[in-house]
Formats: sequence, structure tokens, C-alpha cells
Amino acid sequence: MAGNWKMYKTPAQTKDFFAAFLPLVAEAKHCEIAICPPFVNIAAAVDAAKGSRVGIGAQNLYWKNEGAFTGEISGPMIKASGAEWVIIGHSERRQFFGETDATVLERTKAALAAGLKPIVCVGEMLAEREANQTDVVLTTQFNGGIASLSTDEFAQIVIAYEPVWAIGTGKVATPDMAADAHRTIRGLVNAKYGADAASKVRILYGGSVKPDNVKGLMAQPEIDGALVGGASLEAGSFASIVSF
Ligand code: PEP
Repeated sequence: MAGNWKMYKTPAQTKDFFAAFLPLVAEAKHCEIAICPPFVNIAAAVDAAKGSRVGIGAQNLYWKNEGAFTGEISGPMIKASGAEWVIIGHSERRQFFGETDATVLERTKAALAAGLKPIVCVGEMLAEREANQTDVVLTTQFNGGIASLSTDEFAQIVIAYEPVWAIGTGKVATPDMAADAHRTIRGLVNAKYGADAASKVRILYGGSVKPDNVKGLMAQPEIDGALVGGASLEAGSFASIVSF
């Protein structure tokens, strides 16, 4: 269960969140929990989460280790700040910051080289779903952004299926729709990396997951977890999602 805080919260608000959140998930041992705050809050989050089961992640990284790349943050820097996870290829980065399948692949390889666990996002836009292109889009994103990983590299990633039309809109995919897309992705994994990898890979659903719809989604055997934006910002609501 991963929370994507997007561009929200200050270090002080991060500290307050963890003070409220950690007691609520102290007994939640059925899943891994990650919170991905903005870069500037990673240190505060790592400090606040120390001794708990909550891992901290970044929301992006650049694929060079260091250099004259003003404004960028590298995998080794994120790792050194105490984070374990990194979200890669979120649709907001694809839509607003020029992320492509090729750069998703570069970032994923760089994250793995730095010892981070990538959460690689894929998902179709509304027009693509309406044109029955969901499987085509997922196939293109998988082939361009994931399928060049080695078998060992692939074994270390988590995939997030996030239909773009469901992100931040309050329009959640039905459990059946999400499960269909997860089956497509698992089929792609099976074809490229084999049945064992397909059964082991964790595929999260993301897109308006809330305390009142998480149970139905998680009842689908295809859905291994959730990547949660808006509802991860409030300790009580994210704790309810974690403890679905
Ligand atoms: C996200 O940011 O990955 C996301 C799924 O957002 P929301 O839960 O707000 O739709």
C-alpha cells in the first residue's frame, strides 16, 4: 500500500502526519506500507518513520548519478537520504513533464542500480479507453518502458496500473475493469519473463482509491495493492485503506 503525496505537505506537516499515522497502522502486518512525499520531506519522513514498518519513497529520479543537471535528484542521493522506494513514470510526469516509455526505462534501471525499489506506473487516458485501446496502450508502455529489464531487474520492480481518467477525479475503475487491466499486464509479464515472474510480480491499482472502495478492489485476486494519491494525505483515511 503506497501513498503518493504529489506536491503536498511541508516537513513540519510530514512530521505531524507520521505522529498520527504510525499508531493507526502499528498492527497492520499484512502488507508493506510506503509513503512517497516530495523530495524535501524525505529526511523528515525517514526520521519520523524510524523503527516502524513504513518505508519512504521518492516520486521521481534522474538517471545520472551526479553532474550538471540543475534541479534534478539522483538515485544514489535518494538512497542516501534513507528512502527505499521510488515512483517512476507517474501519469502526471508523462502528461506535464515529458516522461516517455524510454525515460521510464532509464529511470527504472538507474533506480535499481542505486538499490531503490521502483514502482513503475502504466495506464491509459480516457480517450484511449473509449477507443478500446487500453490493451494496446498497456502493451506499448510495457514493451517500451519495462520489457528491456533483465529477469533479475524485473524481479525487483512493482507495477502500478493507474488509468489516467481515474487519477484525482473521484472516478474509480470498477474492480472488474481494474482486474482486466491487471490480467493484461500479467499476461505481458508472462510472455516476456515467464509464469513464475507473472505470478510473483505485484501489481498495484491506482486511481481514486478511498476507504470506501478499497475493499472491493482488493477482493480481486489480480490486485495486489494500491497506489493512493489524495486519500494518502490524511492519516486516518490512509490508515483505513491500509487496513482494508
Ligand atoms: C496517484 O497519484 O497515483 C493517484 C492514484 O491519485 P488519486 O488516488 O488521488 O487518484
